[in-house]
Amino acid sequence: MAEDIFASKPQDPKGPWDIVIIGSGPAALTAAVYTTRGAASTLIIGGEKWGGQLMLTTAVDNYPGFPEGIQGPDLMVAMRKQAERFGAEFLQKNATQVDFSKKPFEIVTPDLTYQVHSVIIATGALTKWLDAPGVQEFIGKGVSSCAPCDAPFFKDKKVAVVGGGDSAMEEANVLTKYASEVTLIHRRDEFRASVAMQKKVMTNPKVKILWNTEVKEVKGTNKVEKLVLANNKDQTTSELTIDGLFVAIGHKPDSDIFKGPIEMDEKGYIKLQNHTKTNIPGVFVAGDVHDDVYKQAVTAAGFGCMAAMEALKYLEEARGNQP
Ligand code: NAP
Repeated sequence: MAEDIFASKPQDPKGPWDIVIIGSGPAALTAAVYTTRGAASTLIIGGEKWGGQLMLTTAVDNYPGFPEGIQGPDLMVAMRKQAERFGAEFLQKNATQVDFSKKPFEIVTPDLTYQVHSVIIATGALTKWLDAPGVQEFIGKGVSSCAPCDAPFFKDKKVAVVGGGDSAMEEANVLTKYASEVTLIHRRDEFRASVAMQKKVMTNPKVKILWNTEVKEVKGTNKVEKLVLANNKDQTTSELTIDGLFVAIGHKPDSDIFKGPIEMDEKGYIKLQNHTKTNIPGVFVAGDVHDDVYKQAVTAAGFGCMAAMEALKYLEEARGNQP
């Protein structure tokens, strides 16, 4: 295959770049494929932990093009290589601050401040933790949000998973490969997960389900030892002896650094003005940082494509208006 370097880069790494994409999940990397192929110099500020939520998962069976499924991290490596193939520069640093009040815009990282004409925000979402005593204290000491990462530490041990969505089903399922017993704790009497994912868990003999149950406290000395549980139907409390607690209660948008200049709702989801536009001309948004509804890898990729096309159009129009 011929050299496919489409987008030329600015001579100074600080820019100004045509487009900076903040984030490195499916939305960000799809956007980069489109912006580079549109010959826009593109810097991806991908974060110290790059790749987003698919890096924390196992088999992805619902991303089109992979009839046998694909491992989440393998999918992300493939997307990154595809974006880099067309000339996107990938920076594995966090963006810590933005200044959208001047042109070119500025994006601050711990080492450098980058100048850019157009920005695509694709920072995705972060794990939501339970708001109960002991949870924060025991993160990394038995409390986790990533079964594919941490399940091997719980071989032949007892673990619990909290949540009733697809993530909780997936965590429980992965954990059954290592743990001796998996207790799935859900606050209601029905799951919101897809039928296929529920079925996998409900037919697994290692999984015990506690309905209408809330975790009130995580207890232990140096590591997790017990959960204090409350049944919200009959108001009884109980204790469950466990070695690990996996929290899978959803995610919140990773939008903190944009608070102020960028309009968002009360949960922190960035507001769309028209397709993928934000309230600031030249700043676009794609993926889970604005999407409170679909939250799928494939929809994020679709939004990334849309944001890239909008950003390219914005650059073209801005250049056309120059004297
Ligand atoms: P989710 O669908 O929002 O589910 C979160 C679950 O946690 C809900 O059951 C919710 O209970 C429960 N919950 C929320 N806050 C809680 C709290 N404070 N205490 C106790 N429980 C709480 O989130 P998700 O499971 O992470 O899934 C997010 C999206 O990713 C979904 O669209 C899902 O389809 C997708 N996903 C897909 C796959 C796959 O297809 N392979 C895998 C993982 C995720 P209620 O039900 O009572 O609200």
